[in-house]
Amino acid sequence: MSIFDVTLHMIKFKVTSRLMFFMTSKTQVKIEKSELSTGELISYFREKCSICAHHRIMHNDLGKCEGVMNKPCTSGCDKFNAE
Ligand SMILES: [Zn+2]
Ligand SMILES: [Zn+2]
Repeated sequence: MSIFDVTLHMIKFKVTSRLMFFMTSKTQVKIEKSELSTGELISYFREKCSICAHHRIMHNDLGKCEGVMNKPCTSGCDKFNAE
């Protein structure tokens, strides 16, 4: 392994570790096998909601906003809507 490979691996790890808190390693493998890049996923989940202004990541699988850091969303947003 060259130093370049090691650096690349470290960068990759740094980016993916940011996603780890909501993702199992099984999901990680699925992403790596798909055409989606981690960067694309990050920007997808960073999209803001036009109803409550929270990022997509704060909304559950049904689209309901669950708020940020133990603070519930007060807008009553129950369907994510991209800005
Ligand atoms: Zn919200
Ligand atoms: Zn919302």
